[in-house]
Amino acid sequence: MSDQYTNERGFETIAIHAGNTADPLTGSVVPPIYQVSTYKQDAVGRLRGGYEYSRSANPTRTALEENLAALEGGRRGLAFASGLAAEDCLLRTLLVPGDHIVIPNDAYGGTFRLFAKVFQRWGVEYSIADTSNPASVRAALTHRTKIIWVETPSNPLLGITDIAQVADIARASGAKLVVDNTFASPYLQQPLALGADVVLHSLTKYMGGHSDVVGGALVAADAELGEELAFHQNGMGAIAGPFDSWIVLRGIKTLPVRMDRHSVNAALVAEMLTMHPNVTRVFYPGLPEHPGHEIAAKQMKDFGGMVSFQVAGGEQAAVEVCNRAQVFTLGESLGGVESLIEHPGRMTHASVAGSALEVPSDLVRLSVGIESVEDLLGDLQQALS
Ligand SMILES: *Cc1c(COP(=O)(O)O)cnc(C)c1O
Repeated sequence: MSDQYTNERGFETIAIHAGNTADPLTGSVVPPIYQVSTYKQDAVGRLRGGYEYSRSANPTRTALEENLAALEGGRRGLAFASGLAAEDCLLRTLLVPGDHIVIPNDAYGGTFRLFAKVFQRWGVEYSIADTSNPASVRAALTHRTKIIWVETPSNPLLGITDIAQVADIARASGAKLVVDNTFASPYLQQPLALGADVVLHSLTKYMGGHSDVVGGALVAADAELGEELAFHQNGMGAIAGPFDSWIVLRGIKTLPVRMDRHSVNAALVAEMLTMHPNVTRVFYPGLPEHPGHEIAAKQMKDFGGMVSFQVAGGEQAAVEVCNRAQVFTLGESLGGVESLIEHPGRMTHASVAGSALEVPSDLVRLSVGIESVEDLLGDLQQALS
């Protein structure tokens, strides 16, 4: 299984090989897309390969799930139809009505909507904390707190939370620490090694890496919680299909080389923006003046591909920068090889308007891709002029 890779091999080797064992029937080097729902049994209850029905398990999804567990250094990986489906499964596994969750003041808008508009109706309470400040996290705890939720770097303001420090707070209070590792990917950051209990991914982003699939994942540090999550995954049914599993598995093989280039390009874009007269503030953890820079340097291998900035002239000026971009495609989402630009206030984060998570109206978010960096810099220069 994945364990043979976890301790002995380098990350790049794990990304390519974990879960990708040659198909026993044909020797096919890449796992086939097992586009099947059910499996012939040799006698009642006697299964050939352990598979009986594809909601419960499917060989292509198993390949991805083993790969994910190995990449994050966890005991169990589970693949879902979307990042939000993974979040829903996690919350319904860990929480009952009356429980409490601490959520960050800067988070993916859909995550906040799930807490505020879906789970609150089921009697789950939440408090909003600045997770980059341990005192704020401690102050938000109640005797019913079951989860501390952290997103680092955060979306869209690139806030940095010290994972090891919040893990200590979680352990002392009996809550589980969940880290949304979507922005960093396991190549840049390993939350389980820093003390997190569960890692969450939107596979739609850097893991898939090519803007061609929607998917989500959970990786549990311990086998018992992994088993409970797997029970709920099957019980609720929001699984990743065979083709989606296969295409994410394919994307992951190039994750390390993509993340290296995303990080190099984003650092150059951030540096250019800090010097631009029409930019008032740049959010990138790689910049020495970023408040989380030192923690990011400690817990991340590099600073990733996401950059946000505020534009002089307010909301209208920010919207115009988005509209004028040509190499950067105007669109939601992130983490693909192609560069994307968006206005969080009107696009990805419209659902947090009026809440404590509202984002500045003059903010522009970039997902810096792996194109020629000269073309990216030139495009932003013309869009800003
Ligand atoms: C996109 C995203 C999600 C939600 O994932 P979906 O695949 O869109 O459901 C969660 N967290 C972060 C940080 C994201 O960027």
